Amino acid sequence: MHLVEEYLQHFYSPQGEPIPQTKSGDFLTEKLKKMQEFFGLDVTGEVDAETLDVMKKPRCGVPDLGDFTLTEGNPKWDKTHLTYRIESYTRDLHQTEVQGAIRKAFEVWSNASPLTFEEKNEGTQDIMISFNVRDHGDNSPFDGPSGVLAHAFQPGKYIGGDAHFDDEEHWTVQGPKGTNLFLVAAHEFGHSLGLSHSNEPGALMYPTYSYQDPRTFQLPQDDINGIQTVYGQSQNPQQPTGPITPKACSSRTTFDAATTLRGEIMFFKDRFFWRKSPHIPDIELNTISLFWPGLPSGIDAAYESYEKDQVFLFKGNQYWALNAYDIVQGYPQSINRLGFPRNVRKIDAAFSDPETGKTYFFVGDQYWRYDEHRQHMERGYPRRVSQDFRGVGPQIDAALRHDGYVYFFQGTKQIQFDLNSKRVVRNNLRTNTWLNC
Ligand SMILES: [Zn+2]
Ligand SMILES: [Zn+2]
Repeated sequence: MHLVEEYLQHFYSPQGEPIPQTKSGDFLTEKLKKMQEFFGLDVTGEVDAETLDVMKKPRCGVPDLGDFTLTEGNPKWDKTHLTYRIESYTRDLHQTEVQGAIRKAFEVWSNASPLTFEEKNEGTQDIMISFNVRDHGDNSPFDGPSGVLAHAFQPGKYIGGDAHFDDEEHWTVQGPKGTNLFLVAAHEFGHSLGLSHSNEPGALMYPTYSYQDPRTFQLPQDDINGIQTVYGQSQNPQQPTGPITPKACSSRTTFDAATTLRGEIMFFKDRFFWRKSPHIPDIELNTISLFWPGLPSGIDAAYESYEKDQVFLFKGNQYWALNAYDIVQGYPQSINRLGFPRNVRKIDAAFSDPETGKTYFFVGDQYWRYDEHRQHMERGYPRRVSQDFRGVGPQIDAALRHDGYVYFFQGTKQIQFDLNSKRVVRNNLRTNTWLNC
C-alpha cells in the first residue's frame, strides 16, 4: 500500500497535491482509476497484480497528467535555436560517451522539427543537464536505483528545460543491460521542449522505460505529431515519418506470431504484443522489451511447450526460451539445434499440441514436426502443408493452439482448423477477432 500511495501521490497528483485525510480512501481509488486508464489496464480502482507490475517498472519522474502529449498551458520556447550544457557527468561512462548520447538524443527532436541545438561548455544555457542523487535542490529527490530514472522541466526560465538524471542508475550506451542514457535523454528532452507523457505504449513519451536498440531507433509518429504541433514542421523538404503503434481494431491488423503463455494469449506485432488474459476483459498492448529486455522486435514465430512449461520465440535462425517473464539463460540458440537444415533461415509459424506432445513448424509451403518428449525432429519431414492442412497456406504469418483448435493467421484473415479431423472448421474470420474487435 505504501508503494501504491507514493506512486499515485507522485505521478497522479499535480504539484504533489496533498491527499485529503478524511476521504483518503475515495481519493486514492480515483487516482488509481486514472492510472489504470492511462496504462490501458482494467479500470477497477483496485490494486491487482497487473497494476502493481506497472508501478514497479522503472520510469520517468514527471507525472502522468492528461492523456495527450501537450503539456497543460502549452509551454514552449519562443525561439528555435536552443543551447545546452552538461554540468556534471556520471562515472558510469566516459565524458565523450555522455556527450555523444546527449547529442544524439537532441538530434531525435531536431530531425523532426525546426529546432536546432548547440552544446556550450560554460555559463547558464537554456537546457542544463546534470547527474544527481537523492535530494538535489529542486524538491524532487531521486529515489536510489531503479524507480525514477530521470526528470525534466517544461520550457521556461531558470530551471525550465533542465534535465536531471539519477546517478544511482547504471547508465549505459549500448546493449539492454543497465539504463540506456540516449533513450532516457531523448524522452526527457521531450519534456524540456514542452511535451507531456503519451499513453501510447510505443511512444517515446510513454512514461515507463523500455529498452530498444539505439542504433535502429526511430522517433515514433505519435511523438513527431507532438513536437510538430508545438513547433511546426521540420525544415527538411521531406517530412520525417515514424513507426505507428498498431491499432487492434484496424482493418489491416496482422500478427507476426501468436502463442499461449500459462493461460494467457500473446499476439506479437513489430515491437509490440497484445496480451489477452482470461481474467481481464481488456486487451493489453505492450512493447516486447518492456517485459523481456533484450528480445528483438519482429518475432517470426512462437509456441508454448507444455512439457517444459516454457515459451519459445523465433526470429531468423535464432530462438529464445522464456520462463514466464524471464529469458532462460543460454539463449538465443541456433534453430539448427532443433534439427532444421541450414537452408531454413526463418520459421513462419509454430504451435504445439499438448495431446501428442508434437510441435509443428511452418516454413514456406512445408512443415516440420518435432517431438517434445524425445526432443528431436521427427523423421519423414518436411512435408507439404497442403498435404496435411488442406485449405491452409501458403503464406502463414502465425499459428495458435487454443481450446482444441489450431488458428492460422494469414494477413488479415484467420483459419480455424481441427487437427483431429484434419479439416478447416471456419475460414472467413478476421485476424483481430481475438482483440475484442
Ligand atoms: Zn517523462
Ligand atoms: Zn531534479
